[in-house]
Amino acid sequence: MIQNEKEYDGEVPDLIPARMLNEFTYCPRLCYIEWVQGEFVDSADTVDGRFQHRRVDAKPDKLPDEQETFHARSVYLTGPDMGITCRIDLLEGEGNQVTPIDYKRGKAPKIPEGAYEPERVQLCAQGLVLRENDFDCTEGVIYYVRSKQRVTIPFDDDLVDRTKELIAALGEMARGGEMPPPLEYSPKCVRCSLVGICLPDEVNILRETEKEGAEPPGRVRRLLPARDDEIPVYVVGQGQTIRKRGDRLEVWSREEGKVSDAKLREVSQLALYGGVGITTPALVELLQRGIPVCYFTHGGWFYGISQGTSHKNVELRMRQFQCAGEKMRSLELARMFVSGKIRNCRTLIRRNDSLAPKEILGNMGSLIREAEEARSAESLLGI
Ligand code: SF4
Repeated sequence: MIQNEKEYDGEVPDLIPARMLNEFTYCPRLCYIEWVQGEFVDSADTVDGRFQHRRVDAKPDKLPDEQETFHARSVYLTGPDMGITCRIDLLEGEGNQVTPIDYKRGKAPKIPEGAYEPERVQLCAQGLVLRENDFDCTEGVIYYVRSKQRVTIPFDDDLVDRTKELIAALGEMARGGEMPPPLEYSPKCVRCSLVGICLPDEVNILRETEKEGAEPPGRVRRLLPARDDEIPVYVVGQGQTIRKRGDRLEVWSREEGKVSDAKLREVSQLALYGGVGITTPALVELLQRGIPVCYFTHGGWFYGISQGTSHKNVELRMRQFQCAGEKMRSLELARMFVSGKIRNCRTLIRRNDSLAPKEILGNMGSLIREAEEARSAESLLGI
């Protein structure tokens, strides 16, 4: 049975994508955030990985031939009994005997197993799906692009048992609907692109301090989330219109023609002030890319937002609505947002302007304290 990899859509899925099995083996929380909550953040590693896969897909196919070795690229296959759906980078075979080949961007690790467990398990899951579809499949190959090495992984009983065990555990995690805790001081977190969402050390410390008779909090590592290259675009010129041309947003004015432009991939959000308009193609493109469009009055008062449907994190939304319904909890959070924002502004000024007037820094310090102690949402708005 061939079909596209099924994404989690809020219901317990019948089929688990094999690559999610890789993530789950690496870190169950990573898999939960990515698959169940639908959150994803790119890092240099993930972008490079996609690029390497594009190169694999671009190579021409050879048609299957009963007498000769055949190669098929990007093969989508499902195994309903195994509960797995997968995309096989390259399928190599002769007659009914096939070998799945998975491309990995890095170098082959120098370990006795030839590859790390998440990669072996992902490949083995592909092998099991092939077996379910009546192919003979006893081993797979991981091709490491950087070291140009083929590493053969035999699908022995131990690996097959481990793969089935992990498939069952992943299904249970998804059905349970509870996010697994972060790994504890794991070196894996250092390279994890979701570190900024997961906040492993912070969450672990909070969990510890909530326990009775807890010890003082431990150390929080400086795990830096991937740097965001995108920036907001603010359009304030009255009567101007935003249009889309190719991969760019253009700002047009009736009198002067095109007055400015920005690359779409560098835009984090579009803020329109007062009488600035936007064409439907530009709005659709922004919504498809998950870039929010915010509308403000001429004087900067926020009155609405257009956002695409890319966000699937239902749990987050439920918690936000829950908080919004509790007045004191909302105020507590709002105080933290506002005081944190002023604190960050003050830090930025101090970092970038060694001659920043002491009076301004002092005023900002007072505003931070006032925001932290605001007695109501209304006085916080005043600050
Ligand atoms: S930061 Fe660490 S604990 Fe969190 S998802 Fe990534 S690997 Fe898992």
